[in-house]
Amino acid sequence: MDIPKIVNQQKCFFNSNCTKEVTLRINTLKKLKNVIKENEKELYKAIYTDFKKSEFETYITEIALIYNELNDAIKNLKRWSKQKRVRTNLANFPAKSYIIPEPLGTILVISAWNYPYQIALIPVISAIAAGNTVVIKPSEIPNNTSRILAKIINTNFDANHFTVVEGSVETTTELLKQKWDKIFFTGSTSVGRIVYKAAAENLTPVTLELGGKSPTFIFKDCDIKLTAKRIVWAKFLNAGQTCIAPDYLLVEKEIEQQLLSSLKSEIEIAYPVNNTINENYVQIINDAHFDRLSNLIPKDKIYFGGEQNASERIIRPTLLQNISFEDPIMKDEIFGPLLPIISFENLDKVITKVKAKEKPLSLYIYSKNKKIIRKTLHEISFGGGAINESLVHLSNPNLPFGGVGTSGIGNYHSKAGFDTFTHYKSILHKSFLFEPNLKYTPFTKWKRQIVKFILE
Ligand code: NAD
Repeated sequence: MDIPKIVNQQKCFFNSNCTKEVTLRINTLKKLKNVIKENEKELYKAIYTDFKKSEFETYITEIALIYNELNDAIKNLKRWSKQKRVRTNLANFPAKSYIIPEPLGTILVISAWNYPYQIALIPVISAIAAGNTVVIKPSEIPNNTSRILAKIINTNFDANHFTVVEGSVETTTELLKQKWDKIFFTGSTSVGRIVYKAAAENLTPVTLELGGKSPTFIFKDCDIKLTAKRIVWAKFLNAGQTCIAPDYLLVEKEIEQQLLSSLKSEIEIAYPVNNTINENYVQIINDAHFDRLSNLIPKDKIYFGGEQNASERIIRPTLLQNISFEDPIMKDEIFGPLLPIISFENLDKVITKVKAKEKPLSLYIYSKNKKIIRKTLHEISFGGGAINESLVHLSNPNLPFGGVGTSGIGNYHSKAGFDTFTHYKSILHKSFLFEPNLKYTPFTKWKRQIVKFILE
């Protein structure tokens, strides 16, 4: 594959100015929606082959999110791309001022494997809505989903506008050598560093959607049963292979046993079969991740679960008790169906412990106490989150999605996504009608007085 040629052709296409036409952008997005609709069955089939994931779960966590993003962009694109008039200050009189949203140019989107369709396509929708050309490099790990994505995009769209390049590290390394106008990366913090370094060579701006350990606080005044039900859903969806899944629980000591017992009951209801293929429970993506997760389980701390089936790559939802911040499982993002539970009595101390770690991508609080919620939100920096829920903040298009610190740089979804791929060009537009002459020589005393009067 001739990567420099693909990039060069996209640059020529962008320079022809046709992607600046709002109608072309809207038509491309409408076509993308149709192409996905026509190929939905194949998309479900490929993801089942890679993950044993059901149509229903794929629909709610992938396809529906893509349709929502498309509908939102198609509906709002004309308004977002309009030039905006702003006030002009007295010092610049007589003039008008405006801001022109302009596309950045040619974009590289590199995506992760865990939600292979939406993580690749949602940034692409924003990039196209903003008038850019895009090369997508999906993760090679779920190879059936990567192949179907390449097939449906590359057979239906002009490669000069929008194309998929499949490949692994070598291909990505070659892509990163090119001069892009923006790189949008979703993946691990360690590869994020590689991408950031490569981008710096050309001073290319980046958005980095990374990972980390997302804490979940559970206070004694919460509705324990409903809290347990919501956490079990959020944690074990996609078998815990979700960047914003609750990574670990911080529970008030007083309700620890009650919560553990409710979590266990909810798991038994949601995932009644223990460690065999089951249409409601996803596989671990590959043997390397299976082994990594298997080795992470502290056998003496299992409260529930722990059963494994290596040939099917299934690990039963597992609850781990008596965990402290020093346990090995508290070092890195878990990214699997293991849920460590730490109990606490002193909120200030536990906040200090959380703050000593890297800034999380997400944080969740289960409580009815407004003061406690406000305190926790105020004191801990994190990407985004939810109160008395988990994950679902991602599905509200009015909430920009992204991390902070090592969990990410920049954000996207809906208008925030449009902004991510847009440069706002500021223009001051002067009239020829009148020239105040104040800024020109000679710098007389009266000119100084007037200038001081205007500027101070
Ligand atoms: P990864 O970093 O291993 O891979 C991401 C992409 O980078 C893939 O396309 C891969 O081919 C490429 N890549 C891998 N190694 C590379 C290298 N050495 N040089 C250049 N490119 C390379 O991540 P992953 O395993 O696919 O995904 C899991 C991680 O992604 C988790 O940390 C998770 O939290 C994070 N994630 C974040 C979000 C988010 O929205 N913030 C969403 C999904 C996943």
